[in-house]
Amino acid sequence: MDVHSYSRPEQVRLRHLDLDLTVRFDRKVLEGSAVLHFDRLAGDELILDTRGLEIQGVDDAAGFELGGQHPFLGAPLRIRLNGPGPVRVRYTTAPGASGLQWLEPAQTAGKLHPFLYTQSQAIHARSWVPVQDSPGVRVTYTARVATPPGLRAVMGAEMQPDGTFRMEQPVPSYLIALAAGDLACRSIGPRSAVYAEPSMIDAAAREFEDTEAMIAAVEELYGPYRWGRYDLLVLPPSFPFGGMENPRLTFATPTVIAGDKSLVSLVAHELAHSWSGNLVTNATWSDFWLNEGFTVYVERRVLEKIYGRAREEAVLGRRELDREMSGLPERDRVLHVDLDGRDPDDGMTLVPYEKGALMLRTIERAVGRERFDAFLKSYFGHFAFRSITTAEFLEFIRRELPNPVPLDQWIFEPAIPAGADEPHSDAFQRVEAGWPANTSGWTTHEWLHFLRVQKEPDLARLDSEFHLTESGNSEILCQWLQMAVAGWYEPALPKVGEFLCAVGRRKFLKPLYIALMKTAEGQAMARRIYASARAGYHPIAQATLDAIVK
Ligand SMILES: [Zn+2]
Repeated sequence: MDVHSYSRPEQVRLRHLDLDLTVRFDRKVLEGSAVLHFDRLAGDELILDTRGLEIQGVDDAAGFELGGQHPFLGAPLRIRLNGPGPVRVRYTTAPGASGLQWLEPAQTAGKLHPFLYTQSQAIHARSWVPVQDSPGVRVTYTARVATPPGLRAVMGAEMQPDGTFRMEQPVPSYLIALAAGDLACRSIGPRSAVYAEPSMIDAAAREFEDTEAMIAAVEELYGPYRWGRYDLLVLPPSFPFGGMENPRLTFATPTVIAGDKSLVSLVAHELAHSWSGNLVTNATWSDFWLNEGFTVYVERRVLEKIYGRAREEAVLGRRELDREMSGLPERDRVLHVDLDGRDPDDGMTLVPYEKGALMLRTIERAVGRERFDAFLKSYFGHFAFRSITTAEFLEFIRRELPNPVPLDQWIFEPAIPAGADEPHSDAFQRVEAGWPANTSGWTTHEWLHFLRVQKEPDLARLDSEFHLTESGNSEILCQWLQMAVAGWYEPALPKVGEFLCAVGRRKFLKPLYIALMKTAEGQAMARRIYASARAGYHPIAQATLDAIVK
């Protein structure tokens, strides 16, 4: 039972979609149709999720009814079936559809053409496709997407010679993905290419040139990559997330293009989702830790294999987790989180990511790496192309690895159990030792750690020695600007406004606005910046920030 979907897949279950869509940049809508193929198990009603969709009609059915709109669940579309055959829903999306972002030419790198991209996770697919929008329902699909001349559409699916798309592996709806704009494409490996606006393509191709090595590293650990190609799409700066693991085509923020591959852990993370998340999927959003905890664990194993440095990520992760957990209510500190009555986007914390990964690392230590690797490989193989609940995971691990750690305590209780792995990094101990004599060769994580352990930071000295206000590394810059706001270090304040207007990644926006809102002068600045920047942010980021900048 998925509390975030009106659909009743145990009665009539969606199996395949044929989409036919036209991208209308002029009206900021998608219009077209979806042909829905289903399995009738009981009853004669196919229930779909929709959000803001204008339904023009349903063909080949006995009738339909659109229910009332819920603020974040949207409205159920109940279709009365008259046979086993597919039905066609003709529809248009709403201009403010939560899963679509329409960018004006001015919001792109090239400034000449508009851009559209989707973000379906967690429950936004329903705002652009009428679908059983639960991660427990998997579908195959085809799509025909018409775009204005000169603009290219891409999807998280296989492009056919005729320009249409086909997804032969069944995926949950939150992995249906589309983007359209002025996109160039450059090959970066035997099964990988990068798509980006033409002015970004060279930098993007250089930054991501280790992608094939990463794919090979995960395959060696956990079995074959099952999705054919692994391409990357670099989005305009307003993309609200670091990355989104859309199958065959990871969507990525341009803020990871640092010029020195210092932030490519994001690619390791999104790639890892090709096993944990896309192949073995959380059946409901309460089981989200199955997607993210496993992915953070796998990401760090890949980084360790390729760059030999994953412990720093683990140390930072543990510190951030402790900091965040201390401010969370008990119910949000458990891995199997209760989201009843809540938008799953609001339940987004580090807990499923870091506490989940910490549990897996603790199990690895308890049973030995070799045994745990074999377990993970069989887990991904056993549940491949399926959506599973926490209960199914527990049943499987109890059979394969009896009593590795107190699993119920880890998963259903708020505290971190005694005996948790304690990540340690020698590099961080050196960073903590005092003012550094030599910072050449420092990783992003060493910089972040160095900045975060400053008790009473001498902001002027930090800036004059390390030129932090001019940093081209978005992670370091964001950390520095938070400190500059906290200490009201005036030389860096113009950069705060510039950064908040230039990026849309919620991970950066949220802490900076929170820092600004702590003082009267900061509040005035936050409101001024937000008034002009808000329109450029994604609806998901807007929803988060509306609650902060008041
Ligand atoms: Zn993830």
